[in-house]
Amino acid sequence: MNNPYDTENIFAKILRGEIPNDTVLETEHALAFRDIQPQAPQHVLVIPKGPYVNYDHFAHTASDAEIVGYTRAIGKVCEMLGVQPGAGGDGYRMIANTGSDGVQEVPHLHIHILGGRRLGRMLQSKT
Ligand code: 5GP
Repeated sequence: MNNPYDTENIFAKILRGEIPNDTVLETEHALAFRDIQPQAPQHVLVIPKGPYVNYDHFAHTASDAEIVGYTRAIGKVCEMLGVQPGAGGDGYRMIANTGSDGVQEVPHLHIHILGGRRLGRMLQSKT
C-alpha cells in the first residue's frame, strides 16, 4: 500500500492551527469541526489527528488507541448533535469519500456526519 500524506492539505493546516475552524469537539486523537459548506442543518467533519489519507490507510496503520479514540469521538459528536436514533434523535448519515472514484477533495481522512433533515437516497445516479 502506498498512501503518501500531503502535509500541506487543508485539514493538516487546520490541525496545526494555521486555518481557523468551528470546533465541535477536540480529543487526544480527533478533531471535529463544522463543514465550511454545510449540506444539511448539521454537517460536521471528524478527523483523526494523525497523518492518515483515508479510512483504509487508518484502519491498516493507526494504533489501537487512535482507532478507539477516533471512533469514540464520532460517537460523542453524534450525541452532541442530538441525532442518535437510540436517544430520541432523527438519525444521520456518515460519509467517508475516498480517492478519485469516491470524489475525495481533501486527502486527510474525514468522516462527514450529516443530519437535521431527510437526506434522500444514498446515491443520486449510477453514472
Ligand atoms: P470531501 O469531498 O473530501 O469528502 O469533503 C471535503 C469537505 O471539506 C467539503 O465538504 C468541504 O466543504 C470541506 N472543507 C474544505 N475546506 C474546508 C475548510 O477550510 N474548512 C472547513 N471547515 N471545511 C472545509
